[in-house]
Order: sequence, then C-alpha cells, then structure tokens
Amino acid sequence: MSQKPSIVPATPSTSPVPTAGQSTSLASRGNLYTIATQQVEKGCKAINIDPSVHAIISQPKNELIINFPVRMDSGDVRMFKGYRVQHNNILGPFKGGIRYHEEANLDEMKALAAWMTYKCALHDIPFGGGKGGIKFNPRSHSKTELERITRRFTHALGSNIGPEWDIPAPDVGTNAQTMVWMMDTYMNVVGATEKNSVRRIVTGKSVTSGGSHGREQATGRGIVHCITEWARENRMNLDGRSFIVQGFGNVGSHTARILSKLGATLVATGDYRGYIANPEGLNAHKLAEHVGATGSVIDYRGGRPITRDEFFGMDCDVFVPAALELELGVHEARLLKAKVVVEGANGPTYPEAEELLLERGIDVIPDILANAGGVIVSYYEWLQNKRSERWDLEEVESRLERRMKRNYALVRDFAEERKMDWRTACYAIGLERIQTNYLERGVFP
Ligand code: NAD
Repeated sequence: MSQKPSIVPATPSTSPVPTAGQSTSLASRGNLYTIATQQVEKGCKAINIDPSVHAIISQPKNELIINFPVRMDSGDVRMFKGYRVQHNNILGPFKGGIRYHEEANLDEMKALAAWMTYKCALHDIPFGGGKGGIKFNPRSHSKTELERITRRFTHALGSNIGPEWDIPAPDVGTNAQTMVWMMDTYMNVVGATEKNSVRRIVTGKSVTSGGSHGREQATGRGIVHCITEWARENRMNLDGRSFIVQGFGNVGSHTARILSKLGATLVATGDYRGYIANPEGLNAHKLAEHVGATGSVIDYRGGRPITRDEFFGMDCDVFVPAALELELGVHEARLLKAKVVVEGANGPTYPEAEELLLERGIDVIPDILANAGGVIVSYYEWLQNKRSERWDLEEVESRLERRMKRNYALVRDFAEERKMDWRTACYAIGLERIQTNYLERGVFP
C-alpha cells in the first residue's frame, strides 16, 4: 500500500480535426488534453485568472502509470497497463471514473481528470478531479479474468486511492460490478477492523453492496433535466419531439429511457458496432433489453441499419452524444439537424465543430454541466456511506433535480450577463471557485 506516483512528462501534440464521416481511432483524433487545455484557457481569460493559480492548475498533481501482471484463464500471465491521474484536490478528495478501453492513454486520462476538477467546482461538490483506467478491451475477457484484472489493479493502486484521498467510479467499460470488486479488494487490504469504514472508497456500487439508489441512471437523469430546462426556455413541448443518441451504454440508454417517458421519440441511435433508425420511434426500454442480451443495438428488430452519416443527418430536435470523446467534428456538425446538442459524453465535440454549431444557431449544453448527474449522486453515495445512512430514491432524485436545475440557471445567467458561450461560462464559474480557495489559503509554505 505504499506505491508513490511516478511523474511522467506531458507531451501534448496538435489536434487534427477529422472532416470525413468515419469514426476514427482515438489515436488519430487529436490530443484530448490539448483540446481540454484550450477550453480551460478560455475560462481563465474570461475571469482574468491570477498567474499563480493558473500555473498550479495547468498541470495535474500526480500522474501514475502501473504495469501489472494477471493470470489468464488459460494459465498464461499477461501484463496490463493501468493509469490514475489526479489533477487537483483544492476543493476535496480526487474523484473520477475508471475506464477500461483498448485505446486508454495518459493524455486522455489527464484531460478527463481536469474536466472532473472543473465539473465538481461548477456544481459546488467538495471533490477534486481524477481519472484512471486500464488499456485493454474488456469485451475480450471472461468475467473471471475481469475480476482478477480489477482486483490486481486495485491492489497495485494501493494507497494512491483512499476514501478521503481519491475515490474512483464507473466509466466506459466498467460498471457497478467492477466497483464492488474494487471495494472488496480495498476492504480486505485495510484489514477487518477498518473494513466497513472504507466502503466509500468507490462510488457507483450496486445498491446491495452500499451503492446509492438512483446512481446507475443519475447521469442520464441529469441530462434530461438540462433538456427539460432548455425546452421550457425555448417554449418547446417535448411530447412528440424527436431525439437521437450516440452510444447506448449507461449514459445513452438511461437518457433515452427517461426522455421517452416524457413523450419524446428516439428516432436513431448507434454504438461501436453500427447505427439504427426508425422515424416512427425505437422503443428505448426494449432496445436496452436487446443490448443487455446481445451487447449491441445492431440487429434490433424495431429499427433498420443506417450509416454513421445518416445518423448525424437524421431529422430530430435533440442530439445527445453519449459514446466517446471527439465524435462530433466539423463534418458531423454540418450534417446535424438538431436544435440542441446536450453533451452526455465527456468532450464529444471538437472546438471547431462547436463554433460551427453555434454559428448555425444550434445550442450546445456542455458536458461539465449536462453530464454531472453521475458525480452528484456519487457524492450522495459517498455521504451516505460516511454517515451510515440510506436515502430513498425519491430523496436522491429530488436533490439531484434541484442541484441540476440550479446550476443550469447559474450557467445561463452567467453566460448572458458576461456575454460568453456556455462552455466558457462553465469553466469561468468553476475556476472562480478554485481561485478563491487558492487565494484564501495561499501556497504552502
Ligand atoms: P458505456 O461503456 O456504458 O457506454 C459507451 C457506449 O458508447 C456503448 O454503447 C458503446 O458501444 C458506444 N461506443 C463506443 N465507441 C463508439 C464509437 N466509436 N461510436 C459509437 N458508439 C461507440 O459508457 P458510459 O458510462 O455510458 O459513458 C459514455 C460517455 O459518458 C463517456 O464519455 C463517459 O466518460 C461519459 N460519462 C459517463 C458517466 C457515467 O456515470 N457512467 C458520467 C459522466 C460522463
């Protein structure tokens, strides 16, 4: 439990924007950290940030890379590469997801960790920003291998995570089961007497193992609160309106199911294997069952296959990107017919594409505002564990709704008053909170 973070030099590269309609590999999409930095810089300028605060937040506090061995079902041993980046903890313990993906890399983790810092600051959650993961494809491993990979990684992270230090959660390729394995491993390492006091080492656990009611669907629910606020302000009745969702995992499928209950129609969706459409409506609940059984939306009998370009060009009112980062380039922005883009994924939109969307009069509700439902309810889960409490679903959901709507209004008013786009407003609000803390506390010694 005493492994110390190793410092790895940052090597950001330039960020080419794909103009073709094909989804590209993450490696060829441009550097996510460079894009995240550009976004934050606009926020820094907007608040005329203090140079010392700017210097501190410009790089993550800790960047950890761990290579660790795991025995496969065949008996062979395979090496895995794991990451944990801790960006900033001035507001509270580092907090952020664990991603299992074959193209996971350090710069991606740095971008995602930084976004967590500003997301928590914007929503006034007393957490900092972290992100981690393992570079491998979880779909090509058995459940027993996934368990051994997760437990060995948790053990290797050692004291680099902790219930008051750094608290992981699910992200792409991980889920409640992954979190329960992480929790159980950590509990066994700290020993019997400490065991129950460290349950909050991770959030996003199953309800039976100490998770919160409402956590699984929280990100989708938060996105829908943003959509209903936007619709109300734009005098749009969602009943009978149409929407498309890219990615039908945790975030995409819950968004689709909750929005369908409000009377809106899911007309197209897609995942890593392809896209489907039905202008009469796809049944989001049945589709989620199909994905649960087959692992993908394709072959769903209620829809017909379409190309990626057809997906982006579908007639619809709302678009929710909920797959991976950098899926919405200039090419896709030209095709899009939606009136609003509500970012469920982290960093789905290239800066150049966002400019084009805004020029075209398409509103963009940025990721750190729209997809914060997950970290908000993670905070509620952490609080419940800390206080040995159990809140019912109604209480969790009403708290989430109040917080999402309050922060939506905060960003809207800030952007209007200071005449800036919503993304810059989100960073400016978060940065101001962080700056006030640094200026009050000073830099030790
Ligand atoms: P998930 O693994 O449950 O689902 C991801 C979905 O995206 C899957 O349907 C997958 O097939 C699809 N996908 C992957 N690559 C694709 C591609 N190239 N084209 C189209 N679809 C593709 O992950 P998730 O938890 O739903 O996370 C989705 C996004 O939301 C990520 O950006 C994540 O960081 C972000 N996010 C998640 C949470 C959360 O609570 N889970 C919270 C905030 C933000």
